[in-house]
Amino acid sequence: MSTRVRFAPSPTGYLHVGGARTALFNWLYARHVGGKFLLRIEDTDKQRSTDEHTRVILNGLTWLGLDWDEEPVFQGARVQRHQEVADRLLAAGQAYVEDGAIRFRLPLGEIAWDDAVHGRISFQGEDIKDFVILRSDRTPIYNFAVVVDDVDMAITHVLRGDDHISNTPKQLALYRAIGAPAPVFGHVPMINGPDGKKLSKRHGATAVGDYQHMGILPAAMRNFLALLGWSPGGDREIMTLDEMVQLFSFEGIQKKPAIFDMTKLEWMNGQYLSMASAEDLYPLVAPQLAQLGLNGNKDAVLKAIAAVKTRSRTTLDVAKQVAVRLDATHVIVDEKAKKEIAKDPTGYRASLEASLAVLQKAEWSPAALELVLRELAERQGVAAGKIFQPIRIALTGGTVSEPVNELLYVVGKEAALRRLQAAVSSGLLTP
Ligand code: GLU
Repeated sequence: MSTRVRFAPSPTGYLHVGGARTALFNWLYARHVGGKFLLRIEDTDKQRSTDEHTRVILNGLTWLGLDWDEEPVFQGARVQRHQEVADRLLAAGQAYVEDGAIRFRLPLGEIAWDDAVHGRISFQGEDIKDFVILRSDRTPIYNFAVVVDDVDMAITHVLRGDDHISNTPKQLALYRAIGAPAPVFGHVPMINGPDGKKLSKRHGATAVGDYQHMGILPAAMRNFLALLGWSPGGDREIMTLDEMVQLFSFEGIQKKPAIFDMTKLEWMNGQYLSMASAEDLYPLVAPQLAQLGLNGNKDAVLKAIAAVKTRSRTTLDVAKQVAVRLDATHVIVDEKAKKEIAKDPTGYRASLEASLAVLQKAEWSPAALELVLRELAERQGVAAGKIFQPIRIALTGGTVSEPVNELLYVVGKEAALRRLQAAVSSGLLTP
């Protein structure tokens, strides 16, 4: 039987990190075994489900590069089918009517399964009470609709969050009653914040769309999500999608909760930014530049992206740094830089003046710029940093230790000299 897995979000909110991770694991498994990855929109809660949420969830999956097979199934459209199966259980005596609702008769004895993540999990039927499957208004209850749909969709593996473990014995009992073979169940660990508590708004953004807007690359997000509760073995972290597909297995899924670490996500995004070409990043950075009110010419933007991408954490970061290089009005002197200047304002100005004198005559290439500034430092008998740091501050407003020759080159001769001149005359920094 060919493998069929599904992601079954309820469109009562956005695609959050936990849901995206569950979707990714299912997708990786389907692609690993050459099976199908299906979607089911669990929109039975008519009060809270919206088309807008469905759209955002599908967009989020698409952004992450998780494509699905077959048309998505909408649970709300299958209510008649749920009613039909409930009536059949009623007719067979496996369910009964109570207060107008149909209640499933839970059999006594052990209900157990070999969980793909946790190994054997066992419950006693005695501990689980008979439960409603169809409300008195004939709408289905989650545990029932899910089983009917999974059976009809011929789902072979259900991989979902640990929070569903207590639902699984009820669902297994329903499979038995319906007379359908049960799928393999696997429950993936929850995602906690760095404080060990369940991930929530308190820990920062939880919606995948927020990360998109923050300037996280989809490939980095996907790689990061894959490692939330799964490990390919060894200390491998950066993996292409193909590598993840190849390496993915249930055995690699951890039992203990995963920790969502924003610093790690930003680090990983930085790795992906370094690996990407300026051309690749251009379509992502250009709209963010436009939002900053800057429409630089493409060549200048590409040059600036290439210079800053290895020192950036997000594409928004890239855009800001590009903007600083292309347009002095974006320069904001940060606290650290102000302190540096305050230590020795006269030295700061004198150093900039000396640099200006040699830069005015310099050939504007990274190699030549490096040479003339190092020669200047030597002549003055000071460390190169004494010459470099004031230039960095004057041009970017910050003290990030990037190669100053590249910085000058990217800003361009005319703009760089103008900004340095302005910094000399004002003593601080003005555009
Ligand atoms: N709609 C359920 C949820 O979002 C799906 C549970 C399942 O995968 O069975 O939690």
